[in-house]
Amino acid sequence: MGTSEKTQLIEKARNLGVKFIRLQFTDIFGVMKNVAITVEQLDKALDNELMFDGSSIDGFARIEESDMYLRPDIKSFEVFPWRPREGGVARLICDVYNPDGSPFEGDPRYVLKKVLTEAAEMGYTMQVGPEMEFFLFNVDKDGRPTLETHDSAGYFDLAPVDLGENARRAMVLTLEEMGFEIEASHHEVAPGQHEIDFKYSEALDVADKIMTFKMVVRTTAQRHGLHATFMPKPIFGINGSGMHMNQSLFKDGKNAFYDPSTPDQLSETAKYYIGGLVKHARAIAALTNPTINSYKRLVPGYEAPVYVAWSGRNRSPLIRIPAKRGSSTRIELRNPDPACNPYLAIAAALKAGLDGIKNKIQAPPPTNQNIYHMTAAERKELNIDSLPGSLAEALQELAKDDVIKSALGDHVYEKFVEAKTLEWDNYRVQIHTWEVDEYLTKF
Ligand code: ADP
Ligand code: MG
Ligand code: MG
Ligand code: MG
Ligand code: MG
Repeated sequence: MGTSEKTQLIEKARNLGVKFIRLQFTDIFGVMKNVAITVEQLDKALDNELMFDGSSIDGFARIEESDMYLRPDIKSFEVFPWRPREGGVARLICDVYNPDGSPFEGDPRYVLKKVLTEAAEMGYTMQVGPEMEFFLFNVDKDGRPTLETHDSAGYFDLAPVDLGENARRAMVLTLEEMGFEIEASHHEVAPGQHEIDFKYSEALDVADKIMTFKMVVRTTAQRHGLHATFMPKPIFGINGSGMHMNQSLFKDGKNAFYDPSTPDQLSETAKYYIGGLVKHARAIAALTNPTINSYKRLVPGYEAPVYVAWSGRNRSPLIRIPAKRGSSTRIELRNPDPACNPYLAIAAALKAGLDGIKNKIQAPPPTNQNIYHMTAAERKELNIDSLPGSLAEALQELAKDDVIKSALGDHVYEKFVEAKTLEWDNYRVQIHTWEVDEYLTKF
């Protein structure tokens, strides 16, 4: 980082009345962590001299090797618009480094950067556009979140039914102040459910933005007396929240998925990318759908994908090719949910796509009929696999997939599997209300 860049940022922070700076990073499980410093320490932070104890972060380091350093990404400086102007608060997103100056292998941002470098070596940059869905719930008189919404609005409904509208409007304005270009925001299908879409951009920037997005949405909801949740399936019987991941590769400034000379105007590169996603889909699920609850969303009947297939026509399969062509040519992966760690989920999808391109993996024929109306035998005939039905199954698939494992690296893979196995074991021994209702009087 140049001295002038550094001096400029310190001056900017002072001019904006910033007193506190949060140094942010994301742990392996997709949880944002931060250390607050005062503007007086910014100088030191920008010289990468700020150390923290990595052993206090889940999945990071052992006690005996716990010193870690934060290196702020200077471009990520943003002021929190909801905090006071006087004594204001800003943030810097950081990379995590070891004391010897090497990048820390357990840093999800580093995992994504590695796969992006692999793409860059092949001449590609990756563009990602996520569709963020979430629920807004009421809080009780003690401020605790409930599962109630007092709206009964549906898809694209307008006020007065849409009571979350004020909150959503404030979210959009705040996000815009923090550098987001919001393309659309609307009420989603379920009561209390909303979607906000921001414009696609370069993969690392988008992963950073997804983390910022969740923070802004939660904070803004709280200021409106509501609780925002990115839990994938909070309520049985209604749609869950997804995070469709629209993705494309660009080469020499052009969309590499677009080829006007083919019948469907998709390039060979796009087809191989789809081939890679299909091949690795079952392992990728562990990263795009990393919670027990994620798999309660991936069931028939609620617009979420269940089967591994692709189509340019209907919306039911895992991979959809939206009709737009030219620079908007993209592949929409529909299983990711907003509980995922965006760095790891994007890294896994990209790694699969690159494997498809490198090894010329043929995409299966598109599935243009409704898969949900097929029998198991018909699906078998067409070679249509299912996504994993549980976190445990997804972890088994991940263990078998060396390509996706190599994207994560040993550290992240081991810590991830260790923690997620424990999560599964804790869940597995619980007695669910459903079981009691079903068996208590029957046996
Ligand atoms: P849907 O029709 O599935 O509801 P949306 O319109 O809600 O789709 O969201 C589409 C997303 O795709 C937006 O985030 C948009 O910026 C993004 N997008 C558009 N073009 C590209 C592209 N070339 N690569 C990646 N994402 C893109
Ligand atoms: Mg959408
Ligand atoms: Mg839309
Ligand atoms: Mg939606
Ligand atoms: Mg979509």
